[in-house]
Amino acid sequence: MTPNETMTQSSATELTSEEVVRITRETNYGTWRFQKGWNPLHIVDSEGCYIIDANGKRYLDFSAQLMCMNLGHKNQAVIDSIAKQAQDLAYALPGYTTTARAELSKLLLEVLPKGLNKFFFTTSGTDANEAAFKIARMYTGKTKIIARYRSYHGSTAGSIAATGDPRRWSMEPRGKGPGIIFGPEVHCYKCPIKHTYPECGIACADYLEHMIRNESDVAAVLVEPIVGTNGVIVPPPEYMPKLRRICDETGVLLIADEVMSGWGRSGEWFAMNLWDVTPDILCTAKGITSAYVPLGLCATSEKIGDFFQDHYFAHGHTYEAHPMTLLPAVATIQEMRRLGLVERTRKLGPFVEEKLNTLKSKHPSIGDVRGKGLFWAVDLVKNQKTKEPFNTYADKVSSKALVVDQIAAKTLADGVIMQAWVSHFVIAPPLIITEEEIERGIDTLDKHLHIADEQCV
Ligand code: PLP
Repeated sequence: MTPNETMTQSSATELTSEEVVRITRETNYGTWRFQKGWNPLHIVDSEGCYIIDANGKRYLDFSAQLMCMNLGHKNQAVIDSIAKQAQDLAYALPGYTTTARAELSKLLLEVLPKGLNKFFFTTSGTDANEAAFKIARMYTGKTKIIARYRSYHGSTAGSIAATGDPRRWSMEPRGKGPGIIFGPEVHCYKCPIKHTYPECGIACADYLEHMIRNESDVAAVLVEPIVGTNGVIVPPPEYMPKLRRICDETGVLLIADEVMSGWGRSGEWFAMNLWDVTPDILCTAKGITSAYVPLGLCATSEKIGDFFQDHYFAHGHTYEAHPMTLLPAVATIQEMRRLGLVERTRKLGPFVEEKLNTLKSKHPSIGDVRGKGLFWAVDLVKNQKTKEPFNTYADKVSSKALVVDQIAAKTLADGVIMQAWVSHFVIAPPLIITEEEIERGIDTLDKHLHIADEQCV
């Protein structure tokens, strides 16, 4: 037997499901949570919009495993691409290239907002953002990045420092990133300065400009074009074009974090397409391979690419442009096109909107529903008038039972996975979902919202 002719190893195991859960719980960290009480679901199978647990129970996944599985599970073309790449070449240094790398780059030129044509491949959204920060700083020679309070950009040192939401707090002041400052979010339902759209003339954008002009050393403004976990916030139509103009006039780069909002979720390939705005840098991950394999992307404009022709590109990872991740991304894009998922999502948007508005009219606990395509928030409030939420992040980190979590536990028992975050649900199913499945998911939420309704004041 040559070294390559190894025997096929069976992955069969004698572990019971209880042992799988216990060993995981005892030896692994459960993330973004207290370790006590972690009881992970043991998943053994999947199909389309469903995952299946060790007892054979099927769960309709109403958040696509955190806006990841856009193609759903068991897409054969993507599976085949993984197998093929593993057969041909599992790994090569990023200084080499592969055919898949060139093919993916060609496809990216077609689907990304026009003008983004130089790519750095990573393994997650977090490290795509880290790359963006370094590139922006190297290119501009400046340090500060203006992010916004309602945002999440990742969990490593730089990206958590740039995250506006309270997930940042546990790292402060130790992990306070150099040069990260926060500007106002655009959130018309709960405007932090109590303005009303459209009379406000989107003063939040004006204030960002005020910040840029009154700070020195600003390299970039960083936005989630549609804010994701923090509540699926779609800005008013004139916001992003205005921000683009402000960045151009002040010589500051615009970085779009499309880790969640990209890959058809908004009914466009990328949310920035909704306003026909091209950022200087776009970061993405998740849907790029429908999460079949871990790939992230930091795409920059030509002028930034040109800069590094004769400036040292001081960045890189062992696993950057990992071959195992690139062919599956090619297959993912081809499958999205074959299935017409971007157009399909655009068409399904109004259907979801109508269903959610009906839901809202029935439940006093729903303050707002908002979104685009297959990316929606159901925002719960204790009091319609004051818009006071049932819970805050402080409740979450004090292990209090959140109202949204109580409801999500009930929908889970009914076989529907609802993504709950502090005081809202994010509805973002695989883009292959049918109207019937959408109805089932919303009906299941409907059934359990009385838990919140009964606590309204
Ligand atoms: N940026 C946004 C907008 C995200 O939603 C996320 C993750 O959910 C990230 C960055 C971090 O991506 P990852 O978890 O792949 O590191």
